[in-house]
This record gives sequence, structure tokens and C-alpha cells, in this order.
Amino acid sequence: MTFNEGADLDTSQVTGGGGGVRGGAVIGGGAGTIILLILGLIFGGDITGGGTGANPFDPGQVQAGGDTSTTDFSQCKTGADANRDDTCRIIGTVNSVQAYWRDALPADVQRQYQDAKTVIYSGSTQSACGVASNATGPFYCPSDQRVYIDASFFDELTSRFGADGGALAQEYVVAHEYGHHVENLLGILAKGQDGKTGPLSGGVRIELMADCMAGVWANHAATTKDANGDTLLKPITDEDVKSALSAAAAVGDDHIQESSTGRVNQESWTHGSSESRQKWFLAGYNGGTVNQCDTFSTDDL
Ligand SMILES: [Zn+2]
Repeated sequence: MTFNEGADLDTSQVTGGGGGVRGGAVIGGGAGTIILLILGLIFGGDITGGGTGANPFDPGQVQAGGDTSTTDFSQCKTGADANRDDTCRIIGTVNSVQAYWRDALPADVQRQYQDAKTVIYSGSTQSACGVASNATGPFYCPSDQRVYIDASFFDELTSRFGADGGALAQEYVVAHEYGHHVENLLGILAKGQDGKTGPLSGGVRIELMADCMAGVWANHAATTKDANGDTLLKPITDEDVKSALSAAAAVGDDHIQESSTGRVNQESWTHGSSESRQKWFLAGYNGGTVNQCDTFSTDDL
């Protein structure tokens, strides 16, 4: 979706990576399992460590001092900046997504929304869930309630995974991660943390719910406002929806498996098929409330 050129971006909702990566990041067994299941959108190949206690993040593989976190967001002031710069687009999207949930969550399910920061980094940085890097991709960490995104991931989304280059393809990624934050606030996130995989697993249901919540936001995105009361985004177009669907398809487990190994193994799915991811985005988009997103009430995912 395109931002209104004059809208103000609120950079206080994001932060740079901070202190960088230090050796010795240790994740306990339980936490390790959680991380395996809630990491953002993709990651199948990188986090196949499997059993409880497997630590997918080997600090030894991270270059000390490799942190080049972005901390200066002064180039991101307006919607016009968000339209031309991926990092500024992340900021504008975070602003819009949080503005939406701040109003919608109390109205729809009588729960208060709590803001969550996005850490925008390049290279790698430390999260409470382990090291964030371009090997992990975007993710939400429930331990520190932050979203981690490497802005260069959006190049990969197009070049490696095959999403189109549209803005809503990128915005969908941000909105999906905030879907996990909403799940966390609603106490649902743990349902996806039983360590199981497969098309009907709790983990896949949690991911599809986050896709649905991204769709709910997309439905209302053009009504969200900046601090001055000006709308952040222009009305959604058919092209925008196509871009979101292209991203949802690109990060489907079957698509990723097919393109990386030539084979599809449903039993190892962690995020759902391309078709399911599109379907649940559209369910949220067409339905327009979080009540449309109960992926635990059906086996027809
Ligand atoms: Zn996810």
C-alpha cells in the first residue's frame, strides 16, 4: 500500500540493533523450542534442528563484531520517505499496524493492546530469543516482545522466494510479525509451541492466524492515522492485494520445499502451504476482524 506523502512517521516505535552480537548466547531447552516455532515467516531450512533443546543459533558461527545495526532513522520522516525506502516503509507500517490494534483489540475482544518495538538491523543483532541475522529472517520474540527485521530481507523476499516487489508484500511481513505479538497478548501463542510440525500442527495454526491478522490490518490500514490525525496510507488497491498474496504464496512451506529440494514433505511443515497462507490472509482481509482468524476451530486450513 502507498503512504500518504505528508503523513508523519513515528520512529520511536522502532530501534536499531543496539549492542550487537556477543558470544555465549545460550537458549534453554524450553525457550529453544519456542523459538523454533515462532520465528517469523520462512526459515524452514535454517531451523531444522528439531528436538527439544536443539539450539539453532550457534554463537560460534556468528562473526564477532559483525553487528552493523541501523540506529539512525533520520531519513524516515514522512510517508513519502516510506514510499521510497524499505527501512522507512517498515517504520510506517509498524506505525499503522499498531495504530490499528490499539483501537481494534479493545473493541473486538476487550483486550488492551501494548506497543511492541521493531528492531531494524543489518548484519546481525542479539534478541532475547537468540541471534537475529539474515539466516533467521524476520521474527517476533515473545521474551522481549520485539519484532526483528533485517531491511535487506525484502530483497530476498523478491529474489529468492519470488514475491512481487509491491509494497504490500513487504508490509504483509511486518503485519504478520505483529500478528504474533497480538497472539502473545491474547495468550494464544503458546498453543503453537508443542514442538509438533505438519499441516494441522499448532505451529502452522499460529502462523496462519498471524497471516489472517495481517489481512485484518490490510482491510483497515487506510483508516489508520499518524500522531497528527492524518491518515497514513492511501486506500488499498487490487494490485496491493495481489502483492500480499504473492508474498503469502512465496513463503508457503510447499513452495519453499519445492524450490529448495524439489520435494514436498508435509510432515515438516511449520507455516502452512502457499494456498493456506493466501486463504487465511484473505479471510482476515475480507472479514475485517480478529474473530475471523480462529485457525484452531477448523481442520480445513
Ligand atoms: Zn510467523
